[in-house]
Amino acid sequence: MSNITFTPIGGGTDIGANCYLLEQGDSRVILDAGIHPKKEGREALPEFSLLKKAPDAVLISHGHIDHCGSLPFLMREFPATASYATRPTVSIIDRMLHNSVSVMTTLGRERNISDYPLYSHSDVDFAIRQTSGMPYDKEFALTWNSPFRASFQHTGHVLGSAGIVLRAGDHTIYYTGDICLTDQELMKGLQPLDSSMKIDTLVIESTRGAHLDDEQRTFTSEIRRFTEEVRTVLENGGVVLVPAFALGRTQELLNIIDRLINTGELPTVPVYASGLGRAIYEVYDKFNDFLKPEVSLSPLYQFKRIGDVWDPRISRKLLKQPSIIVATSGMMIENTPSAMIAQEMVKEDKHGIFFVGYLDPDTLGYKLLNAEVGDSLRFELEGQEVQVNLPNRQTFHFSAHAPREDLLHVVRQTEPRNVVFIHGEEDAIEWLKDACNGVPNRFAPDIGETITLD
Ligand SMILES: [Zn+2]
Ligand SMILES: [Zn+2]
Repeated sequence: MSNITFTPIGGGTDIGANCYLLEQGDSRVILDAGIHPKKEGREALPEFSLLKKAPDAVLISHGHIDHCGSLPFLMREFPATASYATRPTVSIIDRMLHNSVSVMTTLGRERNISDYPLYSHSDVDFAIRQTSGMPYDKEFALTWNSPFRASFQHTGHVLGSAGIVLRAGDHTIYYTGDICLTDQELMKGLQPLDSSMKIDTLVIESTRGAHLDDEQRTFTSEIRRFTEEVRTVLENGGVVLVPAFALGRTQELLNIIDRLINTGELPTVPVYASGLGRAIYEVYDKFNDFLKPEVSLSPLYQFKRIGDVWDPRISRKLLKQPSIIVATSGMMIENTPSAMIAQEMVKEDKHGIFFVGYLDPDTLGYKLLNAEVGDSLRFELEGQEVQVNLPNRQTFHFSAHAPREDLLHVVRQTEPRNVVFIHGEEDAIEWLKDACNGVPNRFAPDIGETITLD
């Protein structure tokens, strides 16, 4: 049987638009079809021109946009390609991708990006109809004549997230997708693969490969610190804004906050959640048997709608009495609900803005976190700069990505012959590559670079 090759179409040695091509002979499989969160227009797509022929199948690891955001585009180009994801992920990407069409349409109009939207609502509907929702831990054939068989494995990252095990002949590949080894509020951490599975090639994410796990900062100790800081702001009559990703962070945080209110560790105040986070929350509710068994998800109706915060009067009204607001986007991109609320908040000094995830240095969230009191920032692309008078801006460590020690643990546990590092900054990947010198073949291919998996 001929060798299997692996080529990044997007992502690779970048956080970017994850998309990977596996080939054996005439058979082609795509792993993930993401979109680059920092690029615009067609630039944000994977290099689909590298695909000379239609793939047999595409498999989506989870619903974050850097893993699924170009699926409708790919499926429009190759309508006969089979598509697979776990059942919760199919429901999640339905909401995420329709939201992307709306966001792209607005950006296209407001900023004259002629490529936008890259696909339409009906392209999304087609892609979702073509995508089969699969159970975990059950192997299936990708097509009747494909040499590849696949199964989805839990990864503990967000609802529906999966690693993908692919078998062709006697070669087994494990593509991790995004992984988290430790338990979160709702998700159980990554479980080791079935010991009978002998992995030849491990393709592993490296998002936090440059991050040491800080022993002092566990999930529990961060919750304690978060509780103290939130309580102080509320007791001083202020509002706490938590910018959060719509998928994962929002549902985790809302349940942490509700638990702390129920135990009396936080005062009883209204808790608000923004639109897309609420839509995804409904999917968490529908598939709540995929969460930790001891979890009983707080009902969504307990969390209030934030309303049209693009109207400054509504934002100002929200800030009149103590409350906690969980709003997208997590990195506080301009014009999103978290940015619009922050624009009013920073004018006063009694509130708190608490970030809970990774902040890219180019984003408004990063700039606001690091701004001095008295600096001015723009929260709306076409708006005026606003002076920051609010000193209480902090970051909390609630990552759903494995730090480097945990990534190494996965490598040690799976004992692969080939390890391929992807989905990370260069320094992270270099560090991991060095640390895994016991693995015979170590790769970190760039986009368009093909490696052969012996
Ligand atoms: Zn992710
Ligand atoms: Zn990712």
